[in-house]
Amino acid sequence: MRRRAGCRPALAVALLLAAAAAAAAPPLPRHHPVPGGVALVPLGEAPLRPAARYAGREVLVIRGPRGWTAVVGIPLTARPGPARLEVRDARGTRTVRFEVRAHDYPVQRITLKDPRMVTPPASVLGRIRAETARLRRGLAHRSPGTPERLRFPPPADGPLSSRFGLRRVLNGRPRSPHRGLDIAAPRGAPVRVPIGGTVLDVGDFYFTGRTVLLDHSGGLVTLYCHLDRVEVRKGERLAAGAPIGTVGASGRATGPHLHWAVALNGALVDPALFLEERHTASGLRPAARSRN
Ligand SMILES: [Zn+2]
Repeated sequence: MRRRAGCRPALAVALLLAAAAAAAAPPLPRHHPVPGGVALVPLGEAPLRPAARYAGREVLVIRGPRGWTAVVGIPLTARPGPARLEVRDARGTRTVRFEVRAHDYPVQRITLKDPRMVTPPASVLGRIRAETARLRRGLAHRSPGTPERLRFPPPADGPLSSRFGLRRVLNGRPRSPHRGLDIAAPRGAPVRVPIGGTVLDVGDFYFTGRTVLLDHSGGLVTLYCHLDRVEVRKGERLAAGAPIGTVGASGRATGPHLHWAVALNGALVDPALFLEERHTASGLRPAARSRN
C-alpha cells in the first residue's frame, strides 16, 4: 500500500529511522560462547569504534542493535571459564569479561582401509608441516574493514554430513577434532562464495586436497577443501554467489564432499553459527553417514 506524499511525515521519519537502525545493525552470528564457538560481547555506546583484543589477537567489533559488539572467535583449545577482552577506546583501556561455557562434542569413530590415510608415510611429513603452517597463516589473516555480512547461505547444496567439533577416532587412534562442517554434495556440484571476499590462497594439499581460502575482512576467513576443480586465482575479488569451483574428493577424503571451515580472529569456529536462519532450520539436513 502506498500513501500519498505529505500525509504522515512523523510516520515517514519513524520508518526511515527504523530502516537506518536495521541497516546499521546487520544480523550477527549465533551467540554460542563455547570452545569452537562465537561470543557476542557488548562493549557499550561510543562515538568511535573501540578496538578489542582476545588472547593477544585483535577481534572483530561491529555496531550491534545496542551499541558496539565484539564478535569473538573462541578456539577449540580454549579452557571453559572466565575470559577477558582488552578494550581500547577514547576513554582509555579497560577489561571486559565474558564466560566461555563448557561443551561436549560427540565422538565419531571412523574406519579407513588405507593405512596411509590414518598415519601418513614419513616421506610426506615435511610437506604436511609446510602446508599446515601455510594454512594456519592464511586462517589467521586479518585485513582492515568489516565483513559485508555475518549471516550467509551455505557454499554448496546438500545434506550436512559431519558437524563441527566431532572428536575423531581413526581406526582406534584419537586424531584432531573436526574443525569444519561437511556438506555431502556430489562430485562436480558448484561451490559458491557465501559473502564477498578476496582469494587469499589456492593450493593442492596432502590432507585438504585442492583448497581455496577467502578473506572477508576484519579477521573473517573461510576455507573450502577437497575441491575437484578450482575456478579462482589468488588475489581475485569475488562477489557473493560467484563460483569458487566444484565439489570433489581430492586430498584425504573417503568420498566427494565439501569441507567448509570458518576462522574468526584466527580461531576455527563452527560455520553453522553463521548460517542464515532459513538454512539452519531446513536447508542443511543431518545425514546418517559421515566423511572427513
Ligand atoms: Zn570435514
